[in-house]
Amino acid sequence: MRVGVIGGGQLGRMLAWAGLPLGLDFIFLDPSPDAPAAALGPLIVAPFEDRNAVFQLAGSVDVVTYEFENLAAPLLREVAAARAVLPPPLALEVSQDRLLEKQLFQKLGIPTTRFVPIASREDLEPALALTGLPAMLKTRRFGYDGRGQAVIGDTALLDAAFQRFMGAPGGLLLENRVPFERELSLVACRGRGGEIRFYPLAENVHQQGILRSSRVPADVDAEVARAAMGYAKSLLDYLEYVGVLAIEFFLENGKLIANEMAPRVHNSGHWSIEAAETSQFENHLRAITGLPLGQTRLRGEALLVNAVGRLPEVHSLLELPGVHFHDYRKSPRPARKVGHATVLAASVPELEKIMPKLLVQMPFETAS
Ligand code: AMP
Repeated sequence: MRVGVIGGGQLGRMLAWAGLPLGLDFIFLDPSPDAPAAALGPLIVAPFEDRNAVFQLAGSVDVVTYEFENLAAPLLREVAAARAVLPPPLALEVSQDRLLEKQLFQKLGIPTTRFVPIASREDLEPALALTGLPAMLKTRRFGYDGRGQAVIGDTALLDAAFQRFMGAPGGLLLENRVPFERELSLVACRGRGGEIRFYPLAENVHQQGILRSSRVPADVDAEVARAAMGYAKSLLDYLEYVGVLAIEFFLENGKLIANEMAPRVHNSGHWSIEAAETSQFENHLRAITGLPLGQTRLRGEALLVNAVGRLPEVHSLLELPGVHFHDYRKSPRPARKVGHATVLAASVPELEKIMPKLLVQMPFETAS
């Protein structure tokens, strides 16, 4: 079977790497001739919105998937009329727009932030009455890794924040800033027949809006884990979803608040390559090609750490016991994720002994 992947970044690269043992072949579409996934399959170099290129990809495969969210959803819908596109374009449409996403959370009874769409400067004061201070002004579309958002701690900052994002395509949204205790994410996978597998909740640490580390299993009450799985199941079933879906949550006063979802394999699930019986990448491929889903059981305690801006010194990194490294083969640039390391340990004390040694070796550079 041949899988077409729109996007040729590290997610596409890790997908293909997981799919080769299953006998799958891959073809990618990416605007960059240096796309990291090109090492694992032919690459069509074209903009994501290039209709001919997208149809060329779809015409040569059995199933189309995507590893990047800022795609033209109407084009994907057109493709879906001719070829299986999974996850379904509806999931992409919803997750591309923070307003639609939060409205869907609300509709399904999934707790989320207090949010108000903002069309003009005049909307801000009334919106603040609902969100309170501090609040966050976000672009509805095209935000990632903390881009497209500003914290408003004081009404004096409203003008500056509004001017910064005014005119953003898709408009803006104001929401309350959650004084969370922790950030968690759930990676789940739904197969073509509707079966669902959940990975354990991960506890995530973000720095400047960029994921720094994910630890599994998160140390949370069984009740919290059960609630997360229930929320994920209602989203997966509602969207008639096939593939991997990730949901990011804040934990405030012991309760989950959904922040956003991603209709794709997710950075906070990369630890599953070494630490789960079946990785998120393999399960995504099993799902979209109609194969039975694999077990998601953990093989131990694990921590994933991203290398941001620059690669680590690999030799000394790999001297740490239980550490595995993934180089995305991307040219280093401030704030860019260029690789990750996962450490797998037999116990919490063992993991906690290695953690500081791993963190200190993994660069985090966001400014030149
Ligand atoms: P996002 O792009 O929405 O995933 O935001 C990136 C990161 O910014 C999150 O993981 C949080 O650390 C922080 N953040 C975003 N929205 C909020 C919020 N409403 N309250 C508190 N922190 C937030």
